[in-house]
Amino acid sequence: MKILPIGHVSLSQAVAGRLSGSVLDGSIKAGEQLPSERELIQQLDISRATLREALKAMEENGLIEARAGVGWFACKLDADNLAAARDLAGAYRQLGAEKTPPGGETPSGPHRLPASSEKPLHVPNLQTDRLGTFEFISWWEKDKVRDANVMVVGAGALGNEVIKNLALMGIGHLFIVDFDTVEAANLSRSVLFREGDTKRSKAQVVASRARSLNPHVHVQYLDGDVTTQLGLGIIRRMDAVIGCLDNREARLALNRFCYWMNKPWVDGAIQELLGLVRTFVPGRGACFECTLTEQARRDLSLRYSCPLLARQNILLGKVPTTPTIASIIGGMQAQEALKLIHGMPVEAGKVVHFNGLTNEMHTSAYVPREDCESHWVYGEVIELPARASRTTLSEMLRLVRQDLGSDAVIELDQELILSLTCPSCHTREEVLRPLEAVTFEAGHCPSCGLLREIELTHEIRGDETFLERTLSSVGVPPLHILRARNSSEFRFYELTGDLSETLHFRHFENPEAVSAIPLRERISLGEAVEPDEGDKGPAAGRIVLHDEKTAPDESVP
Ligand SMILES: [Zn+2]
Ligand SMILES: [Zn+2]
Repeated sequence: MKILPIGHVSLSQAVAGRLSGSVLDGSIKAGEQLPSERELIQQLDISRATLREALKAMEENGLIEARAGVGWFACKLDADNLAAARDLAGAYRQLGAEKTPPGGETPSGPHRLPASSEKPLHVPNLQTDRLGTFEFISWWEKDKVRDANVMVVGAGALGNEVIKNLALMGIGHLFIVDFDTVEAANLSRSVLFREGDTKRSKAQVVASRARSLNPHVHVQYLDGDVTTQLGLGIIRRMDAVIGCLDNREARLALNRFCYWMNKPWVDGAIQELLGLVRTFVPGRGACFECTLTEQARRDLSLRYSCPLLARQNILLGKVPTTPTIASIIGGMQAQEALKLIHGMPVEAGKVVHFNGLTNEMHTSAYVPREDCESHWVYGEVIELPARASRTTLSEMLRLVRQDLGSDAVIELDQELILSLTCPSCHTREEVLRPLEAVTFEAGHCPSCGLLREIELTHEIRGDETFLERTLSSVGVPPLHILRARNSSEFRFYELTGDLSETLHFRHFENPEAVSAIPLRERISLGEAVEPDEGDKGPAAGRIVLHDEKTAPDESVP
């Protein structure tokens, strides 16, 4: 290759810049090994000392990492190292060119936006291009926005604002989760709801309205509960998650799921004229659970000591809000997601408080807790052609044991009620349903009326009497990632057979479907689903571990 004149940039900086450029444009992918030092020295026609210096600069900026005895590997680009990669690559591109662009004063300071020097100059046609205005924003990357997958959990006042903004900005793929229905009182503060929407599923209504705001956006909704009905494989395929929730239990669940899947999430909360926004990034500062006070922790464990009552309580305690505070906080949340999509810096583990009475805004940092139970990022996910509604517990256990050994057990994410026993008349009822599918009322003895004792489990060990039941009948959602362990390690298995039906972003693609939203059909997860005739028995040959079409290492786009 030909090395350009050096000017004010040293040779090692130029080499670092050239390699950073390859990481940025994807010709060296995250996790990929760089060519050997010997090959690089030959290709770049430089000395070993220069190469070492360049690699050291890249390592210090978190762009590559050394693996002892193997070589150098490219790191994943994230908010931390992206700006450095661009700076290094920019220095290389500017070799021989002017130091500062004419008339250009680069903003400086800690909040400088990453300058995307690679953005080509393009003059949009504002008559025909609905997203044309954004082209004038120096850092806006059209392709990243169009390709982004963003999940919004909660479609109330905040969720309405967030989804409105995401759709207007052309965020390409929206996945919306809510289990509630629209009621008249929601109409005063939810921009996407209409008079005739009452009793309809909130998730479904906002999904259809997002499509009508911007038909280029692909939407999907889940009329279900984020704590129990959302497969982790969906979160695994998101770029950012936005929580528009009104209770601590759902936030805690979402926080754990995002941490496990190593995904950033943006929490928002509003009450009267007050609001807050906070972005949590696994491994960077505090997570949501770290922010809970001792009292809050105690409250949660009290609730969990009566599991049937816990869910009921979540539905109480609604707080009064206004559409104005929802716009302010929802706007900030959508903006944080936009920054995450662009790989721009976000203030992870910090909270922005907005006081609408005094118009004061202040930011403070939370202290991460060393012993926080949420801090766990799942390892490699093994993709299996299994499906929640078809695969039985015994089939799943067989697959897991082929991989992890005969002592492996499956850990369920939600408690399974095995039986209810009356403390007075001692009658025992076999239940075999996930905790969330049984109401507080149903927990009482039909003859004495007393609250019955619950026998729960969250482990499948292989000696159960109900192993021929399907995964979904014990509350495992489609495209979930199951956790299994033997005495020494955990491994993670995705029900990838569910992928095409469970994550498609194709709701309301048919224009007629937008106008005719059917009334809500309740998802009856956890109903005692008897395996149908064809599902009985070991179903030999239906599921093969490490199937050729779904190799475990292959990531599904
Ligand atoms: Zn934490
Ligand atoms: Zn009884």
